[in-house]
Amino acid sequence: MKIAIASGKGGTGKTTIATNLALSLDNVQLLDCDVEEPDSHLFLDLKLKKIEDVCISIPKIDKQKCDFCGECSKFCQYHALAVVKNDVLFFSELCHGCGGCTLVCPKNAITEENRVIGVIEGSNSGSLEFYHGLLNIGEAMATPVIRALKTKIKNEKTVVMDSPPGTACPVIESVNEADFTILVTEPTPFGLHDLKLAVDMLRTLKIPFGVVINRDGIGDSRVEEYCEEEKIKVLMKIPHDEKIARLYSKGIPFIEQMPEWKDRFRELHKDIEESAWG
Ligand code: SF4
Ligand code: SF4
Repeated sequence: MKIAIASGKGGTGKTTIATNLALSLDNVQLLDCDVEEPDSHLFLDLKLKKIEDVCISIPKIDKQKCDFCGECSKFCQYHALAVVKNDVLFFSELCHGCGGCTLVCPKNAITEENRVIGVIEGSNSGSLEFYHGLLNIGEAMATPVIRALKTKIKNEKTVVMDSPPGTACPVIESVNEADFTILVTEPTPFGLHDLKLAVDMLRTLKIPFGVVINRDGIGDSRVEEYCEEEKIKVLMKIPHDEKIARLYSKGIPFIEQMPEWKDRFRELHKDIEESAWG
């Protein structure tokens, strides 16, 4: 089963849920898909090693063959190519590597070459298999790195995917193959606003989901009222607890010192299996 952990906004506790859930289960893979700022590894006892580079194909223009007709720049929706007098300008950071310019060039003046945009790293900790993607600084496209990360998924394992925050393309890439998504929120007006956006996204994608309320006790009851009105299951509430916060600040998953929570995360997993598979 593939379980994505998402939230409409950052800082709600996605990583806390992802790491504590993964460490409570057996035969599990944890994938940190927040490739712009991965942090799950900070809570795990791991020696990360490089698995592979992530590349996209970018065009290489042979100016001996090119007649500067402009077909490639006309085709490129991302404005990565501009044809000026006797030259073709290429803005590599705008290129999505779609390969379209190569296909439309009437002079066969374009070939493709690889450009590294990130890296996949991984390691094992006990029965936990961990991978994360790391987008190179200055790169804009997180999606190819997340796609590369997802090739590590083993279907015979329980897979927990810590998604990027928000509701844009990188989140969709990380939740689109999930059997179930846990939406992590906090009981505040900001939490509710962003939860509603995430709920809309998952309903559009037709992915089953439930909510975990983190830092329960701060804010108000509007998140719970919203979930009740919308018939969204609240799977778990994690209290606003000083001990949990202290452990988080030291990079310690709280199940390690509060073992009663390990059983609650196992129950959560069982609950998810029932909700997703009946
Ligand atoms: S489509 Fe080909 S020939 Fe035309 S400007 Fe682009 S690279 Fe040159
Ligand atoms: S590969 Fe696609 S995105 Fe990149 S320059 Fe060519 S048409 Fe544009």
